[in-house]
Amino acid sequence: MKERSLAVYLAAFAAAVAVPLLLLSGLLAWRYAQAERARLEAGGLQRAENVAAEIDRLLSSRLAILRVLATSPAIDRRDFAQFDQQAREFSGMGIDIRLRGLDGQLLVDTSLPRGTLLPLWPLIAPMREAVEGKSVVFSDLFVSRGTGTYAVAIMLPVLRNGEVVALVSTTFSPDVFARVMAEFGVRAPYFASLTDRSGLIIARSDRHAEMVGRPLVAFDAATGASGTWRGANVSGLQVFAFYIRSPLSGWLVTLGVDEAALNRSLWLSVGWMAATGLLLVSVAIGMAWFIVGRLAAASRAMTDAAAAVGRGQLTVVPKTLVAEVNRVGEAFAQTSVRLHLQAAALARANRELEQRVEERTVELEASEERYRLLAENASDLIILRNAEGRVFYASPSARKLLGYSQDEMREVKPSEIVHPEDWQRVDAINQDISEGKDLGFSIHRLRHKEGHWVWIQAAYSRIAGVGPDEPNIMVVVRDDTERQEQEARLHQSNEALRQFSAIVSHDLQAPLRHINMFSDMLKSRVGEGDPQAAGYAASIMASVERMQRLIRSLIAYTQVAYASVKHDDVDLSRVVADAQALLAADIEAAGAEIRVAGLPTVVGDAELLVRLFQNLIGNAVKYRGEDPLVVTIRARPAGRFWELAVEDNGIGIDGAYADRIFEIFRRLHRDESRYPGLGLGLALCRRIVESHGGEIWLDKQWSGGARFILTLPRRRTEKPVKRGGDDAEDRSQAADRR
Ligand code: ADP
Repeated sequence: MKERSLAVYLAAFAAAVAVPLLLLSGLLAWRYAQAERARLEAGGLQRAENVAAEIDRLLSSRLAILRVLATSPAIDRRDFAQFDQQAREFSGMGIDIRLRGLDGQLLVDTSLPRGTLLPLWPLIAPMREAVEGKSVVFSDLFVSRGTGTYAVAIMLPVLRNGEVVALVSTTFSPDVFARVMAEFGVRAPYFASLTDRSGLIIARSDRHAEMVGRPLVAFDAATGASGTWRGANVSGLQVFAFYIRSPLSGWLVTLGVDEAALNRSLWLSVGWMAATGLLLVSVAIGMAWFIVGRLAAASRAMTDAAAAVGRGQLTVVPKTLVAEVNRVGEAFAQTSVRLHLQAAALARANRELEQRVEERTVELEASEERYRLLAENASDLIILRNAEGRVFYASPSARKLLGYSQDEMREVKPSEIVHPEDWQRVDAINQDISEGKDLGFSIHRLRHKEGHWVWIQAAYSRIAGVGPDEPNIMVVVRDDTERQEQEARLHQSNEALRQFSAIVSHDLQAPLRHINMFSDMLKSRVGEGDPQAAGYAASIMASVERMQRLIRSLIAYTQVAYASVKHDDVDLSRVVADAQALLAADIEAAGAEIRVAGLPTVVGDAELLVRLFQNLIGNAVKYRGEDPLVVTIRARPAGRFWELAVEDNGIGIDGAYADRIFEIFRRLHRDESRYPGLGLGLALCRRIVESHGGEIWLDKQWSGGARFILTLPRRRTEKPVKRGGDDAEDRSQAADRR
């Protein structure tokens, strides 16, 4: 719906109230005017009838007097003095009587003093009419010959034996009828006239003297005995008229009602109605104006308050003269207070937030600076790139390691500088990381800017949660040349040592074989003749044999101990199974139970690791006690290492010897027959573990037998596991246990 001002609605309301009221008052006014008109008309008719009846009564009473006088015997005797006397009896009532002969001679006239000489006037028209018609005639208006004034008369022929002998008459002054009209209350707005049969006015209720003798305007329209007529009367007034024709005299009584008077009530009502309507409309408009004013003031107050709330001001809404608006205002004020409090709290929170953001920004900047410094100053080369090989950042070490500046590094693709033989491996790691793997490690060659190859170790980490245009791989590149060279040197020295031991053992073996051979010859030469000498020879031979065993063991030891170590992924459960297989006969003979639980895969040399477990399990079997032997091997993660425990329920080892047992040729049990051995087993174990980068020690806390603990490195691609502390802590705990 269209929006409209309150004033419009109120105006509509005012109109809705005023219009029916106006219509109602109009209807009432109309009904009133109609009733008033009917009342006036009825009054007019009543008056017309009354006036006509009274005039007829007057005429008939005079006629009665004339009829009585006409029968007077004095006429027959021609005793006119007698007749005059009889007639003058009515003079007291103001009635004049005349008697005249058919020749026109006046015989009696009571209007004149007695004895006056009476004139002879010829008969006028109505007299002749009466004589000829032998019946009474009511005259039209005429001018009296005696007085010269207007008059009307009743003429009655005196009949004797059917013949007219004389004429008796009486005359009326028109004033008589005017008086009758006045007596019957005919006055404005009523106008009555009495008209003779020719249409001349005999008498009139208004301006009688002036009007007598004038023709009645509407006389011709008045046909029949009675009726109504409308038009302008003799005075020029618009009238509504009733007329009644007297059956006695043939005269016409007309009574007009002033149309203006008839309509006056109507106009009066219309005037009242208009005034009432005007008043109603002005009251309605005034009320509407007043209400709109009040509401507009209230609405202004509310609008101002709303604007103030909008500006965040505390608002007190002024009291208006409209209670409902004041309720809204109070609610508004409360809301403004609440909003104010909320806004204040919000502003406070905002300030705190800004402060925190500022602090965090500073922290972040500091930390970024630290990382930048770290990257800038690290001797390792740090590269941030994406899986496609686009380099976003390279630390300054690029120059030292590969001869490139930081900017040049950004233009170099990994595929261009990785050694073709290593590329497949490096690309596989790249692939793994772009598919979601977190870590990767490789040792490979990169081409220096000057063209030669540089051995490096590269550790890859995936950077999670970055956009497509940001680096998602961090590579830390470390120069591996030195380690490679060391390894090569070690390899060389090991090789040399191996060759030396081979030569030594070979060279030692030959003289020992000679000693053994000659001792044997000596023994058979001295024979039974010198049992003592034969005994010496046998001792020499036993020592030689022991010497040979020692040398063989030494050779075996050096071959294992100085072998170059491989770095393969090795499944330890496989390793332990192989070791068990090699010891199967001994294990079975001892009735030992080997329990193995969840062994991991480590990086190392499978052959050496088999040897390691072969020695440890073998010792457990060898140094078993009275109880049935149970050997348990279990593993648990410890930082970058797996920690493995090999424990038995055998005779155990005194903690005091915990270190010494790992020394070469160190034995705690010299009883060869019961515990055969050369004291090389644990020394070799330590050598193997250390060549893998781990450690081995005896758990001094363990008292149920012997427990060896050793660590082996986890695979590089596995995440280090935190167990309530870092690596260093694990190591120190381990050290405590030793
Ligand atoms: P060998 O067994 O040849 O004597 P090792 O170097 O293997 O040499 O062991 C050194 C010494 O440690 C042994 O002489 C033995 O006294 C002790 N030892 C090694 N393993 C165990 C074990 N599982 N239980 C008890 N003593 C052991």
